[in-house]
Amino acid sequence: MKLLVTGGAGFIGSAVVRRAIRNGHQVINLDALTYAACLANVAEVSNDPNYTFIKADIRDRAAVDQALAEHAPDAIMHLAAESHVDRSIDGPGTFIETNITGTYTLLEAARGFWDRQSRPNHFRFHHISTDEVYGSLGATGQFTEETPYDPRSPYSASKAASDHLVRAWHETYGLPVVLTNCSNNYGPYHFPEKLIPVIILNALEGKPLPIYGDGSNVRDWLYVEDHAEALLLVAQKGQVGRSYNIGGENECSNLQLVQTLCGILDRLRPGPSPYSELITFVEDRPGHDARYAIDPTRIRQELGWRPSVTVEEGLERTVRWYLDNEPWWRGLQDREGVGKRLGVGQ
Ligand code: NAD
Repeated sequence: MKLLVTGGAGFIGSAVVRRAIRNGHQVINLDALTYAACLANVAEVSNDPNYTFIKADIRDRAAVDQALAEHAPDAIMHLAAESHVDRSIDGPGTFIETNITGTYTLLEAARGFWDRQSRPNHFRFHHISTDEVYGSLGATGQFTEETPYDPRSPYSASKAASDHLVRAWHETYGLPVVLTNCSNNYGPYHFPEKLIPVIILNALEGKPLPIYGDGSNVRDWLYVEDHAEALLLVAQKGQVGRSYNIGGENECSNLQLVQTLCGILDRLRPGPSPYSELITFVEDRPGHDARYAIDPTRIRQELGWRPSVTVEEGLERTVRWYLDNEPWWRGLQDREGVGKRLGVGQ
């Protein structure tokens, strides 16, 4: 397939790009290179004849039209987004502009392209979204594809809005879309403002390991390579108009997660004392969702996908990757906002 991937210089997009190239697909990576992007994430494929990079903003209709006309992709995999909840609390405007207006612009460009191509049946617009659109769970239950939307942060509200636009473009204009809503990802190339890299890098520098609130918030963690595999499967075999929830079946609280990371670091890079002694509880995120959990039955039964690694295996691989790739994360630590507490609200 010829895939136009938006946001392919980010964390998950770059995993999709690397895997797609390994699997023999052609990839056009369209990315605006915001603070969250890093072209080193795709360095291993940058000289591949099947790989093209276009620096462009999804809100720039002319640039998107040109990319579509020039490369005529079989599918658009749309991952470009503002993705950090804490930043959405401090500055929601860019989340509205990129996640909503940007998705609208991309949908309109895709519709025009698909029309000009005489509406090929095989074309797909694959919108990549988050389980955060479903809101927050109590102690029990799981999100299914039928769970009503109930977003609570500017980030999740902007993603929910984009999901609605994508469904509307299918119902109203017939655009052949598929959607996926995934739980929290982790793994190599995770930008150093997100929880897992923050914990690993602070531990290595002997700094406090900040945990929001009492650490009881539960997330369902998925190794990014498993997510990339699921996304390529949905882009190729997902049923048009359908959503697929993707999760790791690896629920754990933030405190348990940080303790597991500390245990791995104690083994792989022993410090003067156990890393868990650095754990520090800090002011909670406003509106912090209590629990997310995904029911992945649909993608498992219809497409045969399941995660390949447990959270323990995935976290160990991740810690090893950060230990082996210091130049990558050192190079990102001076980016605006990295290392600072964001999103404490007013
Ligand atoms: P990321 O922040 O690491 O990367 C986003 C990429 O999009 C960056 O390369 C950035 O330059 C690019 N981008 C941002 N605005 C753009 C614009 N206006 N035009 C073109 N490119 C732009 O994000 P991520 O964590 O890789 O997430 C990718 C997608 O997956 C997002 O849509 C996110 O909502 C979704 N998602 C993320 C997670 C997670 O745990 N990280 C979980 C579920 C879903």
